[in-house]
Amino acid sequence: MSQLEITNLHVSIDGKEILKGVDLVVKQGEVHAIMGPNGTGKSTLAYTLMGHPSYQVTKGSVLFQGKNILELEVDERARLGIFLAFQYPVAIPGVTVANFLRTALNARRREKNHEDKGMPVPEFRKLLIEKMNLLKMDHAFAGRYLNEGFSGGEKKRAEILQLATLKPEIAILDETDSGLDIDALRVVADGVNALTGPDLGVLVITHYQRLLNYIKPHFVHVMIGGRLVESGGPDLALSLEEHGYDWIKEKEKTEA
Ligand code: ADP
Ligand code: MG
Repeated sequence: MSQLEITNLHVSIDGKEILKGVDLVVKQGEVHAIMGPNGTGKSTLAYTLMGHPSYQVTKGSVLFQGKNILELEVDERARLGIFLAFQYPVAIPGVTVANFLRTALNARRREKNHEDKGMPVPEFRKLLIEKMNLLKMDHAFAGRYLNEGFSGGEKKRAEILQLATLKPEIAILDETDSGLDIDALRVVADGVNALTGPDLGVLVITHYQRLLNYIKPHFVHVMIGGRLVESGGPDLALSLEEHGYDWIKEKEKTEA
């Protein structure tokens, strides 16, 4: 059983502290949601886990399979079994979705077994078709150049197809406030719902309360001021929908 263990994580941007001690454990098989108002550091957490160079970790650790992943390159994190969705995926002209996925999948297989010669093409094709069917995707998608001319919804689909094919232990998805319409939100939600199970742990970071109408997380956390200030079950998302974040901020003040 793998788990991602974030301990006392402090992160600064340009010398300004944004994350002020985040603690969170995401286990395989669990779906966690982090919600919170704008500007509280949700994307900062996602970018830090993804290894974005602008985010300086000043304290704390993120352990996965006995390694502090903060010391690893992004591709090493991926090969270990952490899926990091890109918020703004780059287009790769000349590389089809299928080729990209096969390369990534084989890199992951080699990580587990250095002798691995890669998945044979027919087997890979079968796998890809199975996953595209699961996600109700047009098969023509596999032959298109990765992200080139993709709509917002198609980029999301490509991301979810990666998730389905690479079968990571932990997936981290940041749905920032911009550019996600309700259809793209549904793509993410349906995809996550189709893929969750005992082998996949998910951390969805979202500004949208309505995403949780579609994804049913086991745990909901609220981030305010760079810390997780409240954690609970799915009913916490309902309280947030009904009462907003102010009651938590008030509670914080009285406890402080
Ligand atoms: P959220 O995702 O919760 O809306 P962010 O993590 O994007 O919040 O931002 C948290 C804070 O960090 C905000 O005050 C934001 O202005 C600041 N911030 C984020 N990215 C940068 C950056 N690249 N340079 C300077 N400040 C940043
Ligand atoms: Mg954000």
